[in-house]
Amino acid sequence: MAYDQNNIFAKILRQEIPCITVYEDEYTLAFMDIMPQATGHTLVIPKYQAVTLLDLPASELTYTMHTVQKVVHAIEKGLNAKGIVLMQLSGESAGQTVPHVHFHLIPSSVHDLKEHASNMADQTELKLLAEKIKAAF
Ligand code: AMP
Repeated sequence: MAYDQNNIFAKILRQEIPCITVYEDEYTLAFMDIMPQATGHTLVIPKYQAVTLLDLPASELTYTMHTVQKVVHAIEKGLNAKGIVLMQLSGESAGQTVPHVHFHLIPSSVHDLKEHASNMADQTELKLLAEKIKAAF
């Protein structure tokens, strides 16, 4: 599937729309999910333009997973979380809504997840959570 330059995460990467960042380096970006399925729900994306997991070269995937691990560590430490649901929806059929590959890091139990991409969180609360996560790197 062709990469849509106008998808919301491409706009975030070009800084055309804001996000609440918790981590950034040359190849990856992590930011708060605006419709969290649990408190502290964070997204990690590669900067590489890939729609699904299968469009991501192995080297990019490896790097992105290192970032996922770093961010999981910071979420657990910063939010005193006991475990993380790591979720990746690859393709529209799986429910993927944003066509830029991303990993969901959700400090919760799989049995307690709220509905996917449904309820906007309070921005001030998200910023506070992001500060706690950033302080834990
Ligand atoms: P998926 O359905 O796996 O593609 O997940 C997309 C995720 O992006 C959902 O959890 C949405 O809540 C989240 N989302 C959509 N727009 C934004 C945005 N502007 N900033 C942060 N998260 C977003």
